[in-house]
Amino acid sequence: MKKRNPLSPTRIIFLILILLLPLGILFLIRNDHKEYEKAVNLKGDKLSHALDLIEISFSVHNQLISTVAKLASNLDREQQIHEDFLEKAFVSSHSELVYGMGIWYRPYLFQSDSKRFSSYISYSSPKGGNYAFNYYWNSPEYDYHTQEWYLKTINSGHNDMVLTGPYFDTDYNYITLGQPFYRDGIKTGIITIDIILPMLNDFFSQFDFSDLENIYLITDGDKILYTSKNTGDAGQSVKKFNRDSIVNQYRALKFSPLIIEKETQNSFIKIYGIADKNKIIKDLIRSRGYYYGVYILLWGMMLGLLRYNLSVKRKKMENQILNQENTTLKNEIQRRKKAESQLHFFAYHDPVTGLLNLNALLESEIQPVPEEDKRFLIQIWLDNMKELSTILDRNIIDTLLQEFSDRLIRQCPETASQYRGNGFNFYIISRASSEEETLYLAEKLYDEFRKTIRLHSRNVRLRVRIGVTPFKDSTDLNQLLNMSQSTFSGINQKQINHIYLYDTILQQKRSFQLALDAAMSHSSFVSELFLLYQPIVNTEDKSIAGMEALVRWNSSQMEGIISPADFISLAEENGYIIDLGWFVLEESIGILAAKKIPEDWFISVNVSPLQFIESGFTDKLDTLTSLAGINKKQLKLEITESSTSSGVRFFWQTVNELIERGYRLAIDDFGTGESSFHRLHTIPFDTLKIDQSFVKGISQDSSNLEIIQSILRLGNTMNNIVIAEGVETEEIHNLLRSIGMKHTQGYLYSKPIALEDLLKLKLH
Ligand code: C2E
Ligand code: MG
Ligand code: MG
Repeated sequence: MKKRNPLSPTRIIFLILILLLPLGILFLIRNDHKEYEKAVNLKGDKLSHALDLIEISFSVHNQLISTVAKLASNLDREQQIHEDFLEKAFVSSHSELVYGMGIWYRPYLFQSDSKRFSSYISYSSPKGGNYAFNYYWNSPEYDYHTQEWYLKTINSGHNDMVLTGPYFDTDYNYITLGQPFYRDGIKTGIITIDIILPMLNDFFSQFDFSDLENIYLITDGDKILYTSKNTGDAGQSVKKFNRDSIVNQYRALKFSPLIIEKETQNSFIKIYGIADKNKIIKDLIRSRGYYYGVYILLWGMMLGLLRYNLSVKRKKMENQILNQENTTLKNEIQRRKKAESQLHFFAYHDPVTGLLNLNALLESEIQPVPEEDKRFLIQIWLDNMKELSTILDRNIIDTLLQEFSDRLIRQCPETASQYRGNGFNFYIISRASSEEETLYLAEKLYDEFRKTIRLHSRNVRLRVRIGVTPFKDSTDLNQLLNMSQSTFSGINQKQINHIYLYDTILQQKRSFQLALDAAMSHSSFVSELFLLYQPIVNTEDKSIAGMEALVRWNSSQMEGIISPADFISLAEENGYIIDLGWFVLEESIGILAAKKIPEDWFISVNVSPLQFIESGFTDKLDTLTSLAGINKKQLKLEITESSTSSGVRFFWQTVNELIERGYRLAIDDFGTGESSFHRLHTIPFDTLKIDQSFVKGISQDSSNLEIIQSILRLGNTMNNIVIAEGVETEEIHNLLRSIGMKHTQGYLYSKPIALEDLLKLKLH
């Protein structure tokens, strides 16, 4: 499993961001605080600026007034001079400060008072209306020295204009600022300026204090001179400025009051601004949207990264699991595929030699082979392999087989494919231009396999049998394998040198035999048998001496009459010969018993040696003949010469028994077998039937005549009747008669026919 890297780049970035986050927050808080202070200070600065302007305004006027006062002190108190003075003053460098003013000379300000000079300088407000700065200086006659404000002003340490007092009348509220003036270096008088409240309103309106809820102008001693909003604090009664009550008053309005305080230089006047803390913060927030953006972005990034990290982690885990599952699945699939291909390989291959096996051969598609196509199935049988298996180790046998298959592959052309069959059978499907070419290949293989194989310091020689079966007779591989097998077993084979070649005619015979065998096993077999009779004549006059019963089979299965030459040997093989034999005997005995033939005739019945070895044959025959009441001499039993050489003890026992009990025995097909003279001497056979193969050729081949003559002599010596079979021509008949042959049988006289027909025969 892959180890997780604890310091992956993603993790490092993630950690850095987590560390940066509090710093970011701190930065924002710190910055917020700074921004807030800045905002508050800005408002304070605005106030202070306003206050400065008030003072500057005052001081400007103050300078003017001071100048005026200085000039006035040197002048007589003459109206004309005063006027001149003012005129000069207004054209002075300061005149611009008192723009739009009018000048009045008022010798008597108050009716009751002594003469005073005063001048009004009207201030024209940009919002319209005139307000007057009232400049006046008091005449020496007015005793103001006793006035508190006067003393306060005179005794103040500086020359700046100071507040002498607020005056609140019903119709005219104002504040008075005073400026002492000197005569001969001594404070001798005071010049005052009245500032009416609307003037202050007008003044403050020039500044943008919209973000301040209220502005308070406070006197020395915390008396409220002015409020920008009429809260009732300024006006009729001068109230003491009480922060707490002001704060509570605003709190009651759901306000979070912040008091910004500014002092004038001379500390007579203070100015306070009431701001809304929340509003400042809100403004700040609005203006600091950027920070929040950063803040949100930071959080967003962090959350995003967190999510990404988690999803990457989860994906990694999922991938890991998936990979594991995938790997397991892949391995499993590979394992199965391998197993399947192995299974498939061994399903179609021989594990020892690696050659294709019988399944592969049987599943190989064989298209119907055209006439001109020469394809062959070559079968190779390792004859002595079973024997070798009993003496050689299994591994050696396997090596031997491998060596064999190597040779097989080496010797075969590319067009041939090799297979291993069951046991020690091998097959080749070969394409060749002719049967000869295939036989040549088969011979070549035979020679190769016969060569000695050196194995584990042992010389081993294989014995092989090779069969060649042409494809043209079949496209069914199962059938082809059967045919090949029959080639081997010698049933349908002819041999060319060492090679067995499939023989089609033999095969057809074999097939016919098989069909006969099946038909014979049918229950109706014996009932389908019947007998024909062939006369045996006296050669001299062609009169009938007897007749041979010859069986025929009218098979319902095979549709037609079947000759005994085709089915007798088969009946001997499958045992039906016993039933058949009894049928023939019973029929023949029946004819004799019924006296259907003249009493001097005999009936020859062919008997298989297998019937003789059936236990109790003689007794059963005896029972039959005695029951039928026939003359045993009229019944002749023919046994073939080949069966007389049979070494079976029971056979000879029966032969003797039969002769002892008076039955006549004939040796059929005499001359073809190996009759021992000893037997012929010891066993008293009644008749010798010379095989037709000697008879047929006597006119051409003198040796055959000699054989017949010697058989005749032999027969005469042993008192045997001699019959010549297969007489087909008059010439042979005459020849046989001339040599003294007493009895003859053959188509010349009659073919095997029904009894009725035979009885009607006119042969002489
Ligand atoms: P076989 O016993 O030697 O019978 C004589 C055969 O020669 C008969 O053939 C007969 O038809 C044939 N034959 C007779 N004269 C001539 C001739 O001039 N020219 C030629 N070409 N053939 C001639 P078939 O009937 O076909 O019988 C053949 C063989 O079958 C018999 O030879 C006999 O060995 C056997 N067979 C016939 N019937 C029986 C039977 O009932 N039991 C047994 N065990 N064998 C029988
Ligand atoms: Mg016969
Ligand atoms: Mg015969």
